[in-house]
Formats: sequence, structure tokens, C-alpha cells
Amino acid sequence: MEYKSENRICQNCKQSFTIELDDFGFYEKIKVPPPTFCPECRIKRRLSWQGYRIFYKRKCDFTGEMIITTYHPDSPYKVYRQDIWWSDQWDPKSYGKEIDWSRPFLEQFKELMLEVPHASLATVYSTMVRSDYCNAASACKDCYLCFKITGGENSAYLNTVVDGKNSIDCSFLNHCELSYGSININKCYKTFFSQDCTECHNIWFSRDLVGCSDCVGCINLRMKQYCIFNKQYTKEEYHRKFLGLDFGTLEDIKKFQKQTEEFMETQPRKQFHGVKNVNVSGEYISNSKNVHDSYLFSNGEDLRYCQFLKSGGAASSYDWSFFGDKSELMYECCWCGLDSSNVKFSAWNYYNQNVEYCFGCHHSRNLFGCVNMPKGEYCILNKQYSKEEYHITVEKIKKQMKEIPYIDKVGRKYFYGEMLPAELAPWYYNEATVYEWFPTTKEKAVKEGCNWRNPDPKEYQKSTVQVPGHIKDVEDKILEAILKCIDCGKNYRIIRMELEFLRRFNLPIPLSCPLCRDRSRIKLLNPMTIFNRKCAKCGVEIKTSYAPERLEIVYCEKCYQQEVY
Ligand SMILES: [Zn+2]
Ligand SMILES: [Zn+2]
Ligand SMILES: [Zn+2]
Repeated sequence: MEYKSENRICQNCKQSFTIELDDFGFYEKIKVPPPTFCPECRIKRRLSWQGYRIFYKRKCDFTGEMIITTYHPDSPYKVYRQDIWWSDQWDPKSYGKEIDWSRPFLEQFKELMLEVPHASLATVYSTMVRSDYCNAASACKDCYLCFKITGGENSAYLNTVVDGKNSIDCSFLNHCELSYGSININKCYKTFFSQDCTECHNIWFSRDLVGCSDCVGCINLRMKQYCIFNKQYTKEEYHRKFLGLDFGTLEDIKKFQKQTEEFMETQPRKQFHGVKNVNVSGEYISNSKNVHDSYLFSNGEDLRYCQFLKSGGAASSYDWSFFGDKSELMYECCWCGLDSSNVKFSAWNYYNQNVEYCFGCHHSRNLFGCVNMPKGEYCILNKQYSKEEYHITVEKIKKQMKEIPYIDKVGRKYFYGEMLPAELAPWYYNEATVYEWFPTTKEKAVKEGCNWRNPDPKEYQKSTVQVPGHIKDVEDKILEAILKCIDCGKNYRIIRMELEFLRRFNLPIPLSCPLCRDRSRIKLLNPMTIFNRKCAKCGVEIKTSYAPERLEIVYCEKCYQQEVY
């Protein structure tokens, strides 16, 4: 069929968005109709399907014991302890449903979501050692409150990490050790309060450094050592100056951060974070080819509107958030990947082929509208079909979904071709990943038809301790204390591993909770939105995630390279 690019009005936000010629080509290739939500509303809908870090205690509906889970105790879902959920002690097919052709298909999917037991957590639990309070995790040893992590050791409060060791309070780390308060760091050792750095060690309050060591408050340096605010010192001078710096109180840190920011405002930024790309647009993308309007991953090919994919072999996909890993032909998926192909409108699935409208189905193929069914084949609404019946019935459902769409509580229609509605997700807006990237108020979320979890007053008690200003004055008894976050008011604790780390590197006790700390780090990243701006040096038009009103001096790729190398 011949297409031209077309403007459409988003069903959700009523803004206009464009569907390009190539997009139509992709939709035709994977046999789906074009979307009715704009790209941003699509991301928000997808990210509503990942709840991974707000823990609750509730009963396991199989054993009756208390377990840790992301499912709120008052939520109407059945929850099984992970090892039970993965075992053959229950049968997901026993919940199989006949299709009721007179009612919207997704309404029947919704009922299944409420009936079939859910896994308490999403870890590869057999690879986790003494790391009970971690989720979306595998291969962790002695980790605490680490999330979206593959390979962790002796670490706490990490988010989105591959191979993190002896690190505390970091997000988006790859192969790092002994790091603190840092974000988007790759192959580094001892990085503190730093961002966008690769192959560095002993760096503090720095940004965009490559191959550097012993630097403080530096930006845009390559293969440098002993620098402070980009000024070169001798080894002796540097160490003398470094010894004169004390980061043992929050005030010291804030003061130094302010000084760093003022210095960095005078230094250029590259229009885009990422290297070794061909034909790429978006932000934080490396080693990729033909990737557009995407965010934060490397090694992708032929992708559009994709975010947060793990390194390695994500190809020929649109609208895919988390987690990648050798998969292709993915469309409107969240938390899906690992040797998967042709997965659509689904969440929390891996090792899957030809799967649509599924949640919690792993190692499966040819499933439609199934819930929590590992190792299934030719099933619809968890009911077994023969291969022939399956294909005929799926075509019939797609037609029926066009005639009788699911309509959510604010009137949005979900025909075949739309991602699962956010209101069917087991997590509320402020429990899911969407809240991290698109924070909002309860009023606004509810108005948009989202569910909102009210805080539990039991978690907002008074602090039982006066936290000393300097780390040298902190005694071990702080480990028994309850602290109260200065940002959100929620209670939190200091753990031994953390206290030892803070003492070792002379860092103060944080006054905000782990969640607020992570969220304030995420805010340091540039946004997903791309703006038009002019290069501050040569004036050429550039596309960048630095909004025009931001104070940074932004250079085009060419001018930046001339300045930096
Ligand atoms: Zn929209
Ligand atoms: Zn907080
Ligand atoms: Zn320029």
C-alpha cells in the first residue's frame, strides 16, 4: 500500500502527532493498525505496566506466610511467593476462560488478571544470595534495595545496573565499583557525585569525562589526571588540594556542588550524549544504527520510540521500554525481552515468540491474552487450543476488538492495536515506573483516569534520632534509628554496609530516603524530549534534549569535538 506521512490527533492528550511513511511501513510489516495515542502518551501507558520498587508485606495466597511483594496488601490480586509461582504446584491453565464474544476482549483479560496468581517479585530468585529486598534483579549477592540489576555485589540503593560492586546510591551503572551518588557511569572505579563518565577512577563531582583519574569538578576532559575545575595540577599539588577538601557534611557537598555548577555553566555541552552512532536521534544512545526518538541504550538497530534497553541486539522494533537483550520485532512492550521476537501489547514477558496481550508469560510462544502462564503454547485467555483453532480464533478476536473495543473509565477506546490500558495494570501511577519519568500530582493523575496510592501514615513517623552534621560524629546506634526523609517525609533506615561506606569515604548521612535520592539523580539526566536549538559556537540548527531556555552552552557535535579533543 502507498502511504504519505499523516498528522493525527492523540486520543489521550488531543495533541497532534505525526505518523511518518516509515512508520506505516513498520506497522504493515508487523500487521498492526497505526496507533491512536501520541508517542509520549504511549510511553506513559507502557511505563504504567512496571511496578518494581515499592515493597509491601502481605500474605502469600498459597502458603499463608508473610512475604515481600510489589502488590499492595489491599489490591485484589492473588500473590504467590516466587518459588511457588514458578513451580508446578499450581496450574495457570486451570484458570482458562472461554471467550465471551458479546463483551470486550480486554474486559475478559482484566478478569483473568484478577484471578490468576501473580509472582510476589520479579527476580531470578535462584541466583540471588542474601538479597531479599531487591527486585527486577538477577545474580545479586549481599545487595539491599537494588533494582533492575544484573550482577550486584555488596551494594545498596542501585537502580538499572549491570555489574555493580561495593557501590551505594547510583543509577544507570555499567561495570562499576566503589561508586556513590553517580548516574550514567560506565566501567568506572571510585566515582562520586559524577555523571556521564566512562573508564575513570577517583573522580568527584565530574561530568562527561573519558579515561580520566583523580579529577574534581571537571567536565569534558579526555585522558587527564590531577585536575580541579579543569585546571591541571602536579600530582603533589593535586593531593595537597584534595586533602584540603572535606565532603563530610551535606553543607560542604551542597556548597561544592554549587561551585561546580557555576563552573560547568561556562563550559560547552555536546548536543547529544552518545558515541559511535549512524543515523540516530534521541538521547543517551551509543553504538547504534537507524535509531530514532529513542532514549538510553546502546547496540540498537532499526528502532523508534524505544527506551531503556539493555545492551545487545535490540532490533526492528517500535515503542519498547525495558529491557532488550537479543530481541526483535517488539511493539508496545514494557519489561519484555531476552531472546524474544514478535511480542506486542505485553508486559513482563521474556523468552517469548508470537505473543500478544500477555502479562507474566515467559518461555512461551503463540499466546494471546494470557496471564501468568510460563511455558505456554497456543493458549487464549489461559485456555488451550489446537494450533489450527488458535490461529483462526486469534484472527476472529482481532476483528471483534475492532467492533467491540474496551472503553476505560475516562472513555478512551482500546481497539486491536493499542497497548493494554494502564488501568488494568496491577500498580497505581505512583507505584509504577511512569511516575519516575513523568511525575505528577494525585489530582492530575486521577483526572487522567489513573489510580493513585495514598501514603500509609504508619510509614511517616517522627525521626527517632538527631543526625549529626558530620560523618565523623555519627555513632553506630544510628543503625537502630528511624529517620524521616526531608523531601517526602517517609521513614527510612541507615544500614551497616552504607554506614561503613560513608565513613570510609568521609561522606555524610543522607537526609532523604533512598527513593527520593534515586529520583533526584534521575532528574539530573537530560529529558526524553528533543528540542530545536542553535549551536552556541557556529550557529547551525541542532536537535538536542537541552531545552532552549536552559542555561548550558550547547555545541553541535563538530564544534564540541574541536573543543574537547
Ligand atoms: Zn498524547
Ligand atoms: Zn523521600
Ligand atoms: Zn557548531
